[in-house]
Amino acid sequence: MTLLELDEVTAFYGPVQVLEGVSLSVPEGGAVGILGANGAGKTTTLRAISGAVRAGGRIVFDGKDIRGRRPEQVAGIGIAHVPEGRGTLGGLTVRENLRVGAYQRKDRKGVQTDIDYMLELFPNLKERYKSHASALSGGEQQMLAVARAFMARPRLLLLDEASLGLAPSTAQNVYAAIARLRAESGIAMLIVEQNANLAFSLVDTATVLETGRSVLTGTSAELRGMDEIRRAYLGG
Ligand code: ATP
Repeated sequence: MTLLELDEVTAFYGPVQVLEGVSLSVPEGGAVGILGANGAGKTTTLRAISGAVRAGGRIVFDGKDIRGRRPEQVAGIGIAHVPEGRGTLGGLTVRENLRVGAYQRKDRKGVQTDIDYMLELFPNLKERYKSHASALSGGEQQMLAVARAFMARPRLLLLDEASLGLAPSTAQNVYAAIARLRAESGIAMLIVEQNANLAFSLVDTATVLETGRSVLTGTSAELRGMDEIRRAYLGG
């Protein structure tokens, strides 16, 4: 079943139109990538879904058109956004960030179970549990951002450039943990990732954006096999 469907989505920063028609769909429990050059509109697509930018077209989540809803409303219906730059609360500890992620939940036992799960999934966070987020390494902050988003128990995770600024081995660790989280929790994911090899390690299908428009969609295997995709995103 389709969880999220974008149909000819447009978006504007003030008077400037940056998305001209983005269409894609994320099945329940599926993982979908968004590929594209710098400025193609990948980040803006995620922001249109989460209500952070004015959008047109249709954005249907769980059967309802959610276009035009405010970010806190979108979060409330089960869409968690891990933005580029991570968005952890630097002045709070790891523990506090995880609690903040769960602030709308009433099931205290479930929250504790999920915290334990996140500390098992990301052992670095266990070691740094009482540290301020601002004192963590870039990789640890990324782990915390994902873990914090999970604590809200979303049905869909929007993940923007999780590998940005990380050493290759760290980025691989982060993606391996996200893949495990996906397999174990069944959370659907929509992922923007510059590093297409990492993206393909996680997603089932991907959509390619060019200047604010989706131009191509395929499975990871199909896209990997295409010369122009290899040249543009996989380094030859
Ligand atoms: P990148 O990989 O560089 O983040 P992207 O594909 O995510 O690229 P977006 O960040 O979505 O692209 O940007 C799409 C276009 O919108 C770009 O031309 C960018 O310059 C423009 N843009 C982004 N943010 C704003 C803003 N706040 N105000 C005006 N224009 C913006």
